[in-house]
Amino acid sequence: MPQETEQVVIIGSGCAGLTAALYSARAQLAPTVLTGTMPGGLLTTTSIVENYPGFPDGIDGTELMINMQQQAERFGAKVKFGSTVEAVDLSERPFKLTVDGELALAQTLIIASGAGHRHLGLDSEARLDKKGVTYCATCDGALPMFRDQPLVVVGGGDSACEEATFLTRFANKVHLVHRRDELRASKIMAERTLGNDKIEMVWDSEVEEILGEDKVSGVRLRNNKTDAEQIVECSGVFIAIGHVPNTQIFKGQLEMDDAGYITRAEGAQTSTPGVFVAGDCSDKVYRQAVTAAGMGCAAAIEAERLLAAESQ
Ligand code: NAP
Repeated sequence: MPQETEQVVIIGSGCAGLTAALYSARAQLAPTVLTGTMPGGLLTTTSIVENYPGFPDGIDGTELMINMQQQAERFGAKVKFGSTVEAVDLSERPFKLTVDGELALAQTLIIASGAGHRHLGLDSEARLDKKGVTYCATCDGALPMFRDQPLVVVGGGDSACEEATFLTRFANKVHLVHRRDELRASKIMAERTLGNDKIEMVWDSEVEEILGEDKVSGVRLRNNKTDAEQIVECSGVFIAIGHVPNTQIFKGQLEMDDAGYITRAEGAQTSTPGVFVAGDCSDKVYRQAVTAAGMGCAAAIEAERLLAAESQ
């Protein structure tokens, strides 16, 4: 039986993907959304979202994403939960996607595959993953293993400051380890962090090793100015050192920058006509829910215009 070609396939179900789904569904293109392994994207790992317009009291991250999904579905978007794209062939249209081992065809493709947590790249980090090493304070901070314990947060940006501040609710002390002597975080976040009695800054320091056999017991740090080593005892290491775009499967087929962010030729258009991009996989500057949503809207409008022009 010949494979049916979808008009619009959207890879990813964060703010960018679901907004693209809403707009293309309302354009009666019945988009298919392949959610990947994290339906709703990274925002589902946040607690309260206070900077998405329209919610003066804030809104729970997961609730916001479920609302977006339901809104897109109401207009005819088909959301395929857990569906993961293993490979793509963008050499000709319709584009070919391998989704959970099956072939799918797409006349236009909107890539909104987001970004994942950056890792330190240490063997001990991989070995102790989920045994005290974590990348999400809001997901794991309240676990009994971290209660009333000293904890380490690594990083110096808004995420690290937010995580460190959040963890002071549970921990008896939070050591914030940063590789420089100045935070990258926004002024308000940095001030809040530096003014918190339960947070102790460890400046100019890098994690050499995460210690522990079956669970984290501490970190070995090296001061990059003096070369001095120190061990900080802790039961958890929260790594918040930024993100890497989820664009591996498009390598060699779409233009990207050195860090792997998909570059846009014009608007939401990638280097391949018919392939559009939105959200964190293409944006290393703003990385906000609202900007991702805006880019998703733009990608959907451009896909619709292309399909309309081609059908005339
Ligand atoms: P980020 O701003 O890129 O900061 C990453 C931090 O990790 C930097 O301080 C960096 O150090 C450090 N780092 C990077 N690689 C490292 C390594 N291999 N070893 C040790 N340290 C390393 O990332 P982010 O904090 O996740 O924030 C991302 C974006 O989201 C930003 O635009 C931020 O404003 C936004 N955000 C906003 C909020 C909010 O408004 N509530 C909350 C979270 C995030 P250097 O400083 O030395 O480069």
